[in-house]
Amino acid sequence: MTSTLSPAPAVGFDVAAKQFKQLIGGDLVDGAATVPVVDPGSGEHVASAPVASPAQLDLAVAAAGRAQPAWEALGYAERGRYLHAVADVLAEHHEALAQLTTLEQGKPITQARDDVSWSIDFTRYYADYRLDPEVLRDDEGGYVELRRRPVGVVGAITPWNFPLFQAVYKLAPALIVGNTMVLKPSPTTPLATMYFAELIKDVLPGGVFNVIGDGGDVGPLLTAHAGVNKISFTGSTVTGRYVMAACAPTLKRVTLELGGNDPAIVLEDADIEKTAEGLCTWAFANAGQVCVSIKRIYAPAAIYDDLIDAMVKRTAELTVGHGLDPASDVGPLQNKVQFEKAREALAIAAEHGTVVTGGSALDRPGYFIEPTLVRDIVEDNPLICEETFAPIRSVIAYDDLDDAIRRANNSEYGLGASVWATDIEQATEVAGRLDSGTTWINHHFQLTPDVPFGGVKQSGLGAEFGRTGVEEFTDVHVVNIKHL
Ligand code: NDP
Repeated sequence: MTSTLSPAPAVGFDVAAKQFKQLIGGDLVDGAATVPVVDPGSGEHVASAPVASPAQLDLAVAAAGRAQPAWEALGYAERGRYLHAVADVLAEHHEALAQLTTLEQGKPITQARDDVSWSIDFTRYYADYRLDPEVLRDDEGGYVELRRRPVGVVGAITPWNFPLFQAVYKLAPALIVGNTMVLKPSPTTPLATMYFAELIKDVLPGGVFNVIGDGGDVGPLLTAHAGVNKISFTGSTVTGRYVMAACAPTLKRVTLELGGNDPAIVLEDADIEKTAEGLCTWAFANAGQVCVSIKRIYAPAAIYDDLIDAMVKRTAELTVGHGLDPASDVGPLQNKVQFEKAREALAIAAEHGTVVTGGSALDRPGYFIEPTLVRDIVEDNPLICEETFAPIRSVIAYDDLDDAIRRANNSEYGLGASVWATDIEQATEVAGRLDSGTTWINHHFQLTPDVPFGGVKQSGLGAEFGRTGVEEFTDVHVVNIKHL
């Protein structure tokens, strides 16, 4: 089913007329140039965003460096109060931020509202977070305490699939432990991040949070900058390698959250209807543009046809349309490059597999691809062995569970995975054999601020969230006392 609407966003201001600004040292600043931002649901230009000059990047890094000692000196309680104030602003402007997110990113408005709600939850969680010193030894010989110090200035680089949420979930843990930040959004989705920065301009002390615009070449300057102590990056594995190399000369700390090719393994005792519902939800959310989207589905031969039938039925019920139309379940791909890649994937699907539902790009403005399921496709096809960042998913039959696990692990990626079953004991045993940072059982893609999230193999380095993630924004400092 498709919807035809291309509604205007209800943000409370004229987006096309608005001057989006960078936030540098507490001031809203124009760029040295501008970059056009396109609504992927219509293909039309919706606003212009500022782009930083190298000198403006230097100013932002310097401002973050100047603000950091005083921010650190405030202590946890005061920094937490600031972060709760940030969460209050997010809550007050919830709908406008969601509408802007949909306008620039394309996702259905309900999913954009989730992005803002999660941003509020994560901010409040970290506002109350503490990394207290840990006593490692306390005996007659001496006393040893492990403390955590902020790294200093954090450079954050965000992609275009969850622009506001990714900005906020990097900002809040970095700030609570005493860092300051310079953040660079993706050139195709800068608006919600810049509007958020504008809204909290007077909420945080000047220089604590800086946002600079990018036309496509600011990332390498930020990663190489000598005034930046750590890079927190989310994006592709290819770019992650460049980021890591750029961090080497200054030995920056680096956290990389990269690509994924998540397998879902269905066991023979799985509830077919509930499993089909869960698989479709986490295969097609955000039009499949999620690092931890379900991308490959392994189903036992005994239930292969039944599972596919149930998934086809659910997929056919999804409404594809502009994200601002409340009827839409699946929005457009975020940008033209991704759209062209998806069309190539559809051609591969038609040639090498059997398309059981979907299979086409929509003949309308915008970057729409029908949610597509493919069966009977061989394992070494790019559709299966590469990350497909689009609503196109393969369902693969297996006869032998050990073989399915081997095939699921036969990937350069290792971000998420899931097992779908009734017997939780068996599912847990299978989960333990999967090469992934997270294995969910009977669900997928649940991110919460208290649980670490990271990838193995080429899916990343380090983790975000939980104590593990917060510690990545700190350096170790040991105080070691010898009793005399
Ligand atoms: P990129 O990894 O190239 O972009 C992500 C961010 O990194 C953007 O802000 C980008 O800015 C920036 N960036 C690019 N090059 C550098 C660099 N050398 N140094 C520092 N920062 C840099 O992703 P793409 O947009 O090209 O998407 C390609 C593929 O990546 C997708 O098809 C998907 O497979 C994967 N991807 C994974 C995501 C995830 O959540 N893990 C998110 C998005 C994409 P700029 O555009 O200005 O270069």
